[in-house]
Amino acid sequence: MSYDFRNPTHLYHENGIVKSRLADMIHTNTCMHCRKRNEILVNNLDFSRWRDAGEYIQDVFTWLTTDQREVLQTGIHPKCWEQLFPESD
Ligand SMILES: [Zn+2]
Repeated sequence: MSYDFRNPTHLYHENGIVKSRLADMIHTNTCMHCRKRNEILVNNLDFSRWRDAGEYIQDVFTWLTTDQREVLQTGIHPKCWEQLFPESD
């Protein structure tokens, strides 16, 4: 599955093509539940703030939902998360 998790404020349009002012990278991970591989497009500066500089993911990737941050962090899809940890009430 592919995702575009680039910071929308870094994006601009040029000749109808969406471009980023920052260098981009593709982060890959695998969902431990369905074993599907994810290809996640991110700005590499944002990514290194989180992974190398140790900032909290919610402080760097402020535009992502909790589910999207989970995909970036662990690769687990929202649907798969529900199956792994069914809510018990
Ligand atoms: Zn999955």
